[in-house]
Amino acid sequence: MKFQAIKGTRDILPPDSILWNRVEQTACDVFATYGFGEIRLPIFEQTELFARSIGAETDVVSKEMYTFESYDNVRIGHPQEMVDIVRANEAVKEAWANNRIPRTDENCLAIAILHQTFDSIKDEGAPALLRFLHGLHNIDFGQSLSLRPEATASVCRAYIEHGMQTLPGNVKLYYMGPMFRRERPQKGRYRQFYQIGAEVLGQSDAPAIDAEVIEMLLAFFEKAGLSGATLSVNSIGDKNCRPQYIETLRAALLKVKDHLGPDSQRRIETNPLRVLDSKLHEEQAIIEKLPRIADHLCDACRAHFAKLQDELKLRGIAYEINWRLVRGLDYYTRTTFEIVAPGLGSQNAVCGGGRYDGLVELLGGPPTKGIGFAIGTDRLILSLQETGKAAAAKSLDVYVAWMGEKAYAPSVTLARKLRDAGFAVELPPEEMKFKKSLGLADKLGARFALIIGEDEVASGQLTLKRLADGEQSKYSEAALLEHLRAAR
Ligand code: AMP
Repeated sequence: MKFQAIKGTRDILPPDSILWNRVEQTACDVFATYGFGEIRLPIFEQTELFARSIGAETDVVSKEMYTFESYDNVRIGHPQEMVDIVRANEAVKEAWANNRIPRTDENCLAIAILHQTFDSIKDEGAPALLRFLHGLHNIDFGQSLSLRPEATASVCRAYIEHGMQTLPGNVKLYYMGPMFRRERPQKGRYRQFYQIGAEVLGQSDAPAIDAEVIEMLLAFFEKAGLSGATLSVNSIGDKNCRPQYIETLRAALLKVKDHLGPDSQRRIETNPLRVLDSKLHEEQAIIEKLPRIADHLCDACRAHFAKLQDELKLRGIAYEINWRLVRGLDYYTRTTFEIVAPGLGSQNAVCGGGRYDGLVELLGGPPTKGIGFAIGTDRLILSLQETGKAAAAKSLDVYVAWMGEKAYAPSVTLARKLRDAGFAVELPPEEMKFKKSLGLADKLGARFALIIGEDEVASGQLTLKRLADGEQSKYSEAALLEHLRAAR
């Protein structure tokens, strides 16, 4: 049997991982200058958290989540009561059938009792049962969990859970890590993909926050070396004006229903805004004639959108307005934005974001405004690679070509010293023939080979060979360090 990475997942290997690290470090550095702190979130959460925030009708929730049953903690109550619960709960039988409950004598006995013979428990059975029930503490009972398809819902959950509304000022958090969606894999689209995202949560919905978030994003892209990225913005209204617009849109869509494909037809009922997202060629002309949200915004949303544009101009940020930019997740209100980058083919959206006032409240928290974005790290990296901005592989500074038993211990010590001084060092774990050793140094791309034989150990003079041209000199240990530093 040959094991392979699951479809839609992949390994990120050196030297690519060097670029990944650099990009992620750049995000940390830039985001810190805007006052953001990192939040590390769980990879899985209750399915309901995503269903409620992203929207049960969205593709992400209805088709793409990796969902599994887990088993919630059971509180140990009165043994009789516990037995009743346990007896009634199919989950225990299932857990037993699937070997999740260890087959100790005691557990076997308890399960037998639970399944059939409870009424005939004898004195000796009761303590075993009791112990078993106490052991159930750590078995989870029937809860639906999902691998996170995105992280905004988790950030809001954490905001509520930790009472972050009491923190001074706006709460500014960023995260990075894998997300999971069962999508059709293709270039730039994976089932395990990575995002770098940031969120601002607090009491203010000032458009300056939206603009600053976008400024930070673009500052990061610039530092990461991404060029040719373009920003689109839109406002999709709020709970005062969007419902009316959706009805207007639905009415207009019903009139042209027969000319739409099955997906769009379905969405007329479930989520008419998503029809605007359609990439189907034959629907484009129809969509262009549909009523536009900009003409249906309430005064407050219109003012917010106008101020956002002023704030973007103030920062010298170029943008275009795309009235069809509605984004795939239900929680957005007012501002939405997207950034596309070159070199990515059809999957060219490298970042999406927007405002989600009301999401925290929807999840049971206090009234809170929010805005954030998520960058598709895989796509950002692809774009950097396609446009020639990938980092060069980190080179090997010194290859220690040691020979002879007496040279080994000093070589280990010296390798450690060089590494402490920040040099990348390769120390062969076993003795090699001189020629073979230098051949390997060459193949590994080392800049220098440090030759340590028994003579060198005796004299304290080490031979350093520059592999590019074969130039060779002798150095004491102190002089060697100095020379390497100067050559850096
Ligand atoms: P979303 O969370 O859907 O708003 O997506 C934000 C960004 O994540 C997108 O602009 C993409 O760059 C990236 N993204 C979303 N889904 C995938 C995927 N399946 N594979 C790779 N990147 C993705």
